[in-house]
Amino acid sequence: MKNWAENVLWTPSKIATPSTEEEIQQLVLKAINDQKKIRVIGSGHSFTALCSTNEVLVSLDNYQGKIHIDKEKNIATVKAGTKLSLLGELLFEEGLAMENLGDINVQSIAGAISTGTHGTGVQLKSISNQVIGLKFINGKGEIITCSATQNTELYKAAQVSLGCLGIITEVTLQCVPTYKLKLQNKKENLDDVLATLDERNSQNRNFEFYWIPYTNTAWTKTSNIVEDSEPDKVNFFNYWTEFVLENYVFKVFCEYARLFPSQNKTVANITAASITNVKKVYHSHKVYATQRLVKFHEMEYNIPAEAYKDVFKDVKKIVNSRKFNIHFPIENRWVKGDDVFMSPAYGRDSAYIACHVYNKKECVSYFKALEEVFRAYDGRPHWGKMNTISPQDVQTMYPKFDAFLKLRKEHDPENIFVNTYLKTLFDL
Ligand SMILES: Cc1cc2nc3c(=O)[nH]c(=O)nc-3n(C[C@H](O)[C@H](O)[C@H](O)COP(=O)(O)OP(=O)(O)OC[C@H]3O[C@@H](n4cnc5c(N)ncnc54)[C@H](O)[C@@H]3O)c2cc1C
Repeated sequence: MKNWAENVLWTPSKIATPSTEEEIQQLVLKAINDQKKIRVIGSGHSFTALCSTNEVLVSLDNYQGKIHIDKEKNIATVKAGTKLSLLGELLFEEGLAMENLGDINVQSIAGAISTGTHGTGVQLKSISNQVIGLKFINGKGEIITCSATQNTELYKAAQVSLGCLGIITEVTLQCVPTYKLKLQNKKENLDDVLATLDERNSQNRNFEFYWIPYTNTAWTKTSNIVEDSEPDKVNFFNYWTEFVLENYVFKVFCEYARLFPSQNKTVANITAASITNVKKVYHSHKVYATQRLVKFHEMEYNIPAEAYKDVFKDVKKIVNSRKFNIHFPIENRWVKGDDVFMSPAYGRDSAYIACHVYNKKECVSYFKALEEVFRAYDGRPHWGKMNTISPQDVQTMYPKFDAFLKLRKEHDPENIFVNTYLKTLFDL
């Protein structure tokens, strides 16, 4: 098996695809009985070895769909394996939507929340914060429920748990009524964007931008709720720029820069020159999601929002002055702070900076240099993306790490959900 980015390969001795909660529970009980380890996979879109195991791997692809909808309170309970694309459709049929999402929709809801997946917007928290209740099977085979009002400490631990507390079977989401977003993608001058960042963030619901390395070009993406506009019809121009240019044409340039590394700057300049402005109005779940067909490796760090400008300045200087074999745009997003124990945004309003490298190229030296910058400003890595932190680092970064570990041990006394990667990451 391999993850999406193809940088983690593993061979499980068994792959189970249960379709009921009872079957999931039986799998856990059997693993305990056989003294086997068990890992659960969502869509395999994490860049780290979170799902890797040579023992039992559980996929909830056959365990998707809605369980209960409370239309009065805008609350939806869904099966944990539900992919975000299906979730968007199911909620839409009920007149509901997720308050915010990241930029793809192929992850499972449990996989997305387990690593702290986020979108952008200074007033909006990560997806885990839209979860108000969870049900999971722990390492003793027990069915456990926790929520914002019941087992609240456990709930704070379970909102981001990297799959090492148990197998999540049900996720209860606080949704909002459906809404339409007007999205504007623009090519802009980087200095102008940096000079007006605070206004852009405070005056728009969702704002992010990509910096095209070696250039003074920023590709901004801004969206806001619109009440009265009709959703746009499928538009060939938008399809061309968002799907064909960003995937097939970009792939050709990635290959070109791979074969001729001296052309990285040229490719970055062509990327900057070919950015076209896009404007569209559509239902929210369709606006957040983009298609990513070019495979890459990624490192993304959360940093305190107030440090963002200094961090970006350092990142820009290093990228422009050192000859890394890269040309991918660098993504900049913002989220509101939260109180989820293992959330990278724990206790602070945050910015996220993500750097990508075409997956057929070496990424270590580039990521190492930028990781040093992020770490110097109290950075915390996205749990689904590449990093080199140690258990001591996790201890320093996360004030609630000990509380998380205590609950983890209580619910998984035999470490059946621990694989080699987690053993090293958390010193388990
Ligand atoms: C192209 C691309 C775009 C991305 N865009 C974004 C983005 O916009 N924002 C962002 O924050 N991240 C983004 N990511 C990262 C991605 O959202 C996370 O890595 C996410 O965890 C992947 O979800 P998944 O369903 O593939 O989970 P997997 O990668 O399969 O698993 C992730 C973790 O969840 C655990 N898990 C899965 N299901 C369960 C369950 N039922 N119970 C308990 N644990 C479970 C796994 O054991 C593992 O520890 C992106 C990744 C890619 C490849």
